Amino acid sequence: MKILVINCGSSSLKYQLIDMTNEEVLAKGLAERIGIEGSIVKHKPAGKESVSIERPMDDHKKAIEIVLNALVDENHGAIKSMDEINAVGHRVVHGGEKFSDSVIIDEEVLKAIEECSELAPLHNPPNIMGIQACKELMPSTPMVAVFDTAFHQTMPESSYIYPLPYELYEKYGIRRYGFHGTSHKYVSQRAAAILGKDLEDLKIITCHLGNGASLTAVENGKSIDTSMGFTPLEGLAMGTRSGDIDPAIIIYLMEKEDMSISEINTLLNKKSGVLGISGVSSDFRDIEEAAEEGNNRAKLALDKFTARVKKYVGAYAAIMGGVDAVVFTAGLGENSPETREAICEGLDFMGISIDKDKNKVRGKETVISTTDSKVKALLIPTNEELMIARDTKSLI
Ligand code: ADP
Repeated sequence: MKILVINCGSSSLKYQLIDMTNEEVLAKGLAERIGIEGSIVKHKPAGKESVSIERPMDDHKKAIEIVLNALVDENHGAIKSMDEINAVGHRVVHGGEKFSDSVIIDEEVLKAIEECSELAPLHNPPNIMGIQACKELMPSTPMVAVFDTAFHQTMPESSYIYPLPYELYEKYGIRRYGFHGTSHKYVSQRAAAILGKDLEDLKIITCHLGNGASLTAVENGKSIDTSMGFTPLEGLAMGTRSGDIDPAIIIYLMEKEDMSISEINTLLNKKSGVLGISGVSSDFRDIEEAAEEGNNRAKLALDKFTARVKKYVGAYAAIMGGVDAVVFTAGLGENSPETREAICEGLDFMGISIDKDKNKVRGKETVISTTDSKVKALLIPTNEELMIARDTKSLI
């Protein structure tokens, strides 16, 4: 069985074709600048050189058409005909309260995803465009939606409700939803497998540390709390997002600087986080380099990032009444030994001890805690595409 996984952004589209008999990636790639001049597909078939296909792509349908042609191409293709694609799995960011698991897409589901667009106006519309384009190009191929929010639908009410008037939850669905769910679910399952334990018996804190970053408390395989909320803005300090701040700062700034709603939105989502503190970059590699060269604000940005993660680790251990494993994943979590070490430093009292040599690893599944560490620390590269493909396979 071969499954095509599609992840549509507003002007980009990531894809992977996975052979589910052995879970091998047959081809993957990225279409960029959709609807903008200079559109390009970077296509990588397994075991062959990458190719760049420069073609005008006015919309997502055109992009998917070019991707499908690339997949069946004589020279750089991975399959002989489109009929070999048994199903398509789509990443959908927001499933609201309607979706607590992945679903087969039909008209009713599509309508419900459209209704969730109000909660994720930047993300759900391009996801829907991807679904519609595939429907037109492959009308008889079954399709599945896998939601970033679904894994967190198990959160108890006390985790997801905000201390605001309850009517706002009832009227607008203002509550905490959480994101990165596919990644948190994948790495928590892998952690149990690596540790040779049953996921049902474990208390795990999963740390998805990328440009966007979130932590999840996974108890008995279920998300019981996560750091992102109504939107991905809540929680950790991120590449460009502020994470938790006193909401009164917004009111203060609107008065003092006469800022508009859209300016506040840009400030908190695009100009804050480690970029805002350091003034250097949103990329942790640049900030680590600047900090090494003696840039104090870059160092402060890294310290703030670490301190916030540590605070959530402590909080989640408390709400679960203990922790068996801490998992690091995503760009920074997989590639920065310094960050992992800084987060775990001083947590011996909780039973977390990192082995500095084992921790030197990058991008490879590894237990990085000492052999006698009560709490295991692990590096597990995330694989959201595989998770989407697995859900798609099991549903069709
Ligand atoms: P997203 O999917 O949210 O864009 P990623 O999971 O790809 O994010 O992570 C991107 C982040 O990971 C960037 O800030 C980048 O600096 C960081 N990162 C990647 N490789 C390294 C590395 N070797 N050292 C430090 N940070 C890294």
